[in-house]
Amino acid sequence: MTVTVRFAPSPTGYIHIGNTRTALLNWLFAQKNGGRFILRYDDTDVERSRDEYARAIAIDLDWLGVKPDQVEYQSKRFDIYARSVEQLKRAGLLYPCYETAEELERRRKLRLARRLPPVYGREALKLTDEQKAALEAEGRKPHWRFLLPNYDSDPFVTRRTEVHWDDLVRGPQTVDLASMSDPVLVREDGTYLYTLPSVVDDIDLGVTHIIRGDDHVTNTGVQIAIFRALGAEPPVFGHHNLLTTVSGEGLSKRTGALSVGSLREAGYEPMAIASLAVLIGTSESVIAAADMAELAEHLDLAGISKSAAKFDPAELDTLNRALLHEMPFDRAAPRLAALGIDGEKAEPFWNAVRGNLNRFQEARFWWQIVTGDLPEKPELDEQDLAFVREAFDLLPAAPWDGQTWKNWTEAIKAATGRKGKNLFMPLRLALTGQPHGPELAQLLVVMGPAKTLARRP
Ligand code: GLU
Repeated sequence: MTVTVRFAPSPTGYIHIGNTRTALLNWLFAQKNGGRFILRYDDTDVERSRDEYARAIAIDLDWLGVKPDQVEYQSKRFDIYARSVEQLKRAGLLYPCYETAEELERRRKLRLARRLPPVYGREALKLTDEQKAALEAEGRKPHWRFLLPNYDSDPFVTRRTEVHWDDLVRGPQTVDLASMSDPVLVREDGTYLYTLPSVVDDIDLGVTHIIRGDDHVTNTGVQIAIFRALGAEPPVFGHHNLLTTVSGEGLSKRTGALSVGSLREAGYEPMAIASLAVLIGTSESVIAAADMAELAEHLDLAGISKSAAKFDPAELDTLNRALLHEMPFDRAAPRLAALGIDGEKAEPFWNAVRGNLNRFQEARFWWQIVTGDLPEKPELDEQDLAFVREAFDLLPAAPWDGQTWKNWTEAIKAATGRKGKNLFMPLRLALTGQPHGPELAQLLVVMGPAKTLARRP
C-alpha cells in the first residue's frame, strides 16, 4: 500500500513553527518512503475557520517546500461523516445524551466524592424512548456519544480494556479505555467534534501513517476504537513532542507567536526554519540542510525526544548564516536577479559576499557598495587619509585577479611600513565605507580598477 500521510491543520490562525514541525515530519516521511502527502483542512468549526487562514497555510507550506499531492476540506465532506454517524447509530455505538454542562459537572463531583473515576456514567443509555421523547418535547436536543468497547456485556460494568499501538516515536503505547468517558462525537447543534471526521477521512483517503503532536496520544486510544467500530484497521501512529517558546510556553495559532509568515518576513531561509523545526528535540544534531532531500536523510522519528523541546529563534540565525555561506551561485542566481544583481559580476560578487551575510537580502547592500555609490562616507582622520592616498597611488595596473590585493598590500607595506589592522582598516573604510565586511581580496576584483579608483579620498 502506498504510504499516505496527512497534515490536518484547522484554519483558525497562521501556522507556527510547531505546526511546521508536524507538517515537515509528515512531508519528509512521505518523501523518504515514496509516499503521498495530503493537506487536509480540519474546518468543521465554521465559526472559527477562515478561508484567509487556509490560503495563508497553503502559501506557508509552499514556501517551505511542502507540495501536497491532494488537498481536502472537511467542510466539503459532511455527507460522508453523516453516513458514518448513521452506521454507528445503527450499530448502537452512538447514543443520544441530554445532560447539560451543569448536570455533568454535578455528577462528576459526586463521583469524585465517592472516590469513583470522574468519567461519564452512561446514564443516558438508561433513558427509555418515552423519556427521550419527553426531553425533546421540552426542547432539549441530544449530543451523541460513542460507546467505548470497555465492557463485556453490561455497559455499566466496565473493565480494564487496553488499546495498544507501536508508536513510531514513542514505542509501545497502552491506553485503557475504561479510564475515559464515552467521547461526544456530535454536538447538540449537529456539528462535529474533531474526533470522528478525522477517523472517517483517514479511512476514506487511505491514510497509512498518522504523524502528529503528542497532545493527541489519548485521542488515539479512542480513535483506534472508532476505526475498528467502522470496520477499518487503524493506521500506524507516531506522536512527536511539542515545541515551546524559549520561556517554555506552548505555541498557539491564535497568538501568532513564531508564525511561519513572521519568520519569512524576518528574512529567514525556508531551509533554516525547516532544519530547526525538524531536528530540534531529537537525537540528531541540528544542521542546516540545504534541501529537503538532505533533511530527509536526518529524519529519525524514533530519535525524537519524549519531552517538549524549546524553540530558540537565535538558533535560526546560526543556521541561516550557514546556509548562505554554503549556497552555490546556481542556487542564489535567480534570487540575486530578483534583487537586481545580475551580469557577469554577479557570480564573483556572490562568492565574495555570501560568507558575510546574515540574511539573503543583505546582498543588495553589498552590491550597492561594490557597483554604486557608498551609502556612508568613510570617516578617516588626517593620518589615515594621507596613508590611504599614498596607498591608492600604489594600485597595481589592470587587469586584476585574485593576487592583486596581496600584491597591492605588500607594496603598501614596503612603502609605508604599516601592517595589520593599521593597514587594512583605513583601506576597508575607504573602499567600502564599512568597518566590517567581506574579504577585500575578492571584493577588489569585483569592484575593478575604475570603481576602486573612484573611491580615492
Ligand atoms: N486538526 C487536528 C489538530 O490540528 C489534527 C490532529 C490530527 O492530526 O489528527 O490538532
